Amino acid sequence: MKKEKFTIKELMRPNILKLVPYSSARSEYIDSDALLLDANEHYRDFVGNDGRNRYPDPQHTLLKKKIEEVLKLPAKKLAIGSGSDELIDLLFRIFCTPKKDKALLISPTYGAYEVFAAINDVAVSHCQLKGDFTIDLNKMEAVCSLVNNGTPESGMHKLLFICSPNNPSGNSFPLEQIEMMVNRFQGVVVVDEAYIDFSKKESAVKLLDKYDNLVVLRTLSKAWALADARVGIAISSDEIIKMIHNVKYPYNLSGISQQLAMATLDNYSEVQKHIELIVQQRERVASALKEFKFVDKVYPSEANFLLVRVLNDPVQLLQTLRDEKIIIRNRSNTRGCYQSVRISIGSVEDNNRLLDALKRIDRDYDGEK
Ligand SMILES: *Cc1c(COP(=O)(O)O)cnc(C)c1O
Repeated sequence: MKKEKFTIKELMRPNILKLVPYSSARSEYIDSDALLLDANEHYRDFVGNDGRNRYPDPQHTLLKKKIEEVLKLPAKKLAIGSGSDELIDLLFRIFCTPKKDKALLISPTYGAYEVFAAINDVAVSHCQLKGDFTIDLNKMEAVCSLVNNGTPESGMHKLLFICSPNNPSGNSFPLEQIEMMVNRFQGVVVVDEAYIDFSKKESAVKLLDKYDNLVVLRTLSKAWALADARVGIAISSDEIIKMIHNVKYPYNLSGISQQLAMATLDNYSEVQKHIELIVQQRERVASALKEFKFVDKVYPSEANFLLVRVLNDPVQLLQTLRDEKIIIRNRSNTRGCYQSVRISIGSVEDNNRLLDALKRIDRDYDGEK
């Protein structure tokens, strides 16, 4: 018999539920000529004429409006983090009691989940993907039943991270499988859609109407070309969004970052054009790589990078490329990514330069394909 799910409040840490959040001097965005003598700020902006002397809007009101307008995500369901990395950390802090609760990862996946778990002293369990990086559904069902054995009192698996499209494998998971896990998992499911802009697959945002134990993460760091500004987006149910606001640093996103994010979102059509270009280039680079003798396998990708399994020594490959001032990522020490490197897709010129260098490496490679 299926156990009833815990409510979101039951899943939250008791100290976090009891929290009286810090109330900043100006919790409302004030768009007026008001004389601001409430926050001990300086009256003068020495570095520009743009309000650098003022604290930024802690609620990111204008940015959320812009996100609603451009990305069609309801402003009321959004929380903005200093990168999705902050949001991942906050979810651990909101739900996982250190040394007691756990998190479930679908591996191999984004390394940050494990790092933030460790920082918060939260243990992780892994459900390993199949060799082709798809989910073994029987195993996933079994793992879900296995990890659903705790209670908030005794400690339990509170978070399940699903990165789709997945980093570093590049594939995405069917929405039905994601829904199955949101359904079966007793805690909160976090679907990290950092690379969704490069994929044709449907977003898990659609499931938010049906489930309150779901958080979808987006970022402006990849397809939106704004990694420097550190803007991550969480879309979730009211209780979770409210708690993220209670727990985050009041001024977690600088005014400059909020402005840059809005300007980027205004540039939607230009960004869209480049997404198409990157997708085309991804397919071109993938085809070219497959021709090299030293390349064993190029995994299909729905992101802006390729995972490539090589027959030569990955460390040597990285070094040879480094000598040509080209940097790629070694993933061969990640379980399930044996002998593999991850290569980001650049501009046409960048990709030409990479392929030229790899051509030389291939010429010198004397192994068998
Ligand atoms: C790059 C990446 C992010 C983005 O993190 P930010 O902190 O928003 O820059 C999030 N998730 C995954 C899986 C990533 O690869």
